[in-house]
Amino acid sequence: MSQFNAKHFQNPEAARAYLEALRWGSERVCPHCGTINSSYATKKPGVYRCASKECRKDFSVTTKSVMESSHIKLHIWLQAFYLMASSKKGVSSHQLHRALGVTYKTAWFLSHRIREAMRNGGIVSPMGGEGSIVEADETYFGPVAKDKVRKVTTSGRPFTKSGRTGPSNKRAIVSLVERGGSVRSFHVAVADGETVRKIVKDNVSRETRLHTDESRLYHGADAHFAMHETVNHSRKEYARGDVTTNSVEGYFSIFKRGMRGVYQHCAEKHLHRYLSEYDFRYNHRIKLGFNDGERADIAIKGAAGKRLMYQQSH
Ligand SMILES: [Zn+2]
Repeated sequence: MSQFNAKHFQNPEAARAYLEALRWGSERVCPHCGTINSSYATKKPGVYRCASKECRKDFSVTTKSVMESSHIKLHIWLQAFYLMASSKKGVSSHQLHRALGVTYKTAWFLSHRIREAMRNGGIVSPMGGEGSIVEADETYFGPVAKDKVRKVTTSGRPFTKSGRTGPSNKRAIVSLVERGGSVRSFHVAVADGETVRKIVKDNVSRETRLHTDESRLYHGADAHFAMHETVNHSRKEYARGDVTTNSVEGYFSIFKRGMRGVYQHCAEKHLHRYLSEYDFRYNHRIKLGFNDGERADIAIKGAAGKRLMYQQSH
């Protein structure tokens, strides 16, 4: 494949050098104790020993990352990162298995670990701010487990259609999109007022203009934000001036199209991982100035400091 002409996609040594440059640059950090530039190469290629007296531990560029203790060759990892970061809709384990020449099980394992690398980890600052607009909306996708099917609405009324087609049987997702900026998505057990309001308050700064539909889930938001403006979808109103929820709905449609086309069978417990993947690509989209290679590099950098054990990923 021509997109894999670069050396770091071709052999494990070049891949290691590429990863070291990305993760450390000129400052090699011991991942065990955090000591900077105080380690030396051992006889084993790619393995360094910390020179700090209290530590003296060995490490490599994959220590304490999602790539740790994997037997997959590093250039294959880099190919997998590139494919997942550059595809528009996602890459199924079956596609990865064929493109990379690894077993289906290995491909599945790779893709879950890469999703973990794409997850927004650590401290995240609030979205929005003065003069910014954040759109909030909720959607439903995929069936919930039988024992989680609800018989009443979030306000306690019984479903009229026996819940078969209503949101009672679907997995609830809440997304926040900053106009012209990034997205944050959450898989929630129930999209009720309390849950949704907490997500919005915790993630959006007060100076923001909040745009939503007329849903009662957002009632009371006026008090918390600079402004809370709504469009009334039930009256077929989709935009009033610059008030719309078109960005967040656009995001939902990318997510759903991808999920239907590529990941048909996603277990509910993995849904948050797929949301991380779609959020990541959206937050590093071309419009925001990222090309495929840059997007892949950012995902690779996110691999450090995260680990996904095999047991966890099932
Ligand atoms: Zn150390």
